[in-house]
Amino acid sequence: MKNLVWLTGLILMLCNANAYANDHRPHTAHQHGMAQLNIAQDGHTLQIELSSPAMNIVGFEHTPRDITQHRAIKQAVATLQNGIRLFTLTPAAVCKLTTADVDTALLQEATKHTTDHADFEARYVFACQSVAALNAIEIKLFALFPGIQELAVQLLTEQGQRAVHLTAAQARLQLKK
Ligand SMILES: [Zn+2]
Repeated sequence: MKNLVWLTGLILMLCNANAYANDHRPHTAHQHGMAQLNIAQDGHTLQIELSSPAMNIVGFEHTPRDITQHRAIKQAVATLQNGIRLFTLTPAAVCKLTTADVDTALLQEATKHTTDHADFEARYVFACQSVAALNAIEIKLFALFPGIQELAVQLLTEQGQRAVHLTAAQARLQLKK
C-alpha cells in the first residue's frame, strides 16, 4: 500500500512537471514550501483559490494531538478567512470581499487514518466596481505564512491565461502589462 501511494505520488509529480512545462494546467502536486493560487477574473468578479500543504501553514500535517496544535489550526483558518489581509487589490478598482471559504483536512476526523499529507484550501470571491482599474494584486501570504516559499499562480483574465511564479521577494502579481 505504501509503495502504491509512493508510486501515485511519483506519477502525480511527473504529470505535474509536464503541466509545468505546458504552463497551462494547474499544479496539483503537494510539495512543501510550494502553494498554488488560481486566479480568475470574469466581469466584475475576481475569484482566488489557494491550495497549500498544511506544513506551510501550521508546520505539521497530522490531526491535532494537543490543544496547542488545535489552536494553531483554528488561528490559521481565521487568518486565511481574512481575504482582505491576504490580497491587496488596486484601491481604485474598489473590490469587496464577498466570499471566503477555508477548509483543511486537518479538521476532518477521517483524515487520521487515510493520509500522510494534508492541505489547506481556501476560496475567495471579490466583487470589483471598476475592473478596468484593477492592475495588480499584492500577495501577503509570504509574510503571514513564512512556510510558503513559492506560489505557482495560474491567472485567467479577459486578457488571457498566464502562469506566474511568485516569491517573498516578488510578491506582486501584475495583472496588466
Ligand atoms: Zn505534506
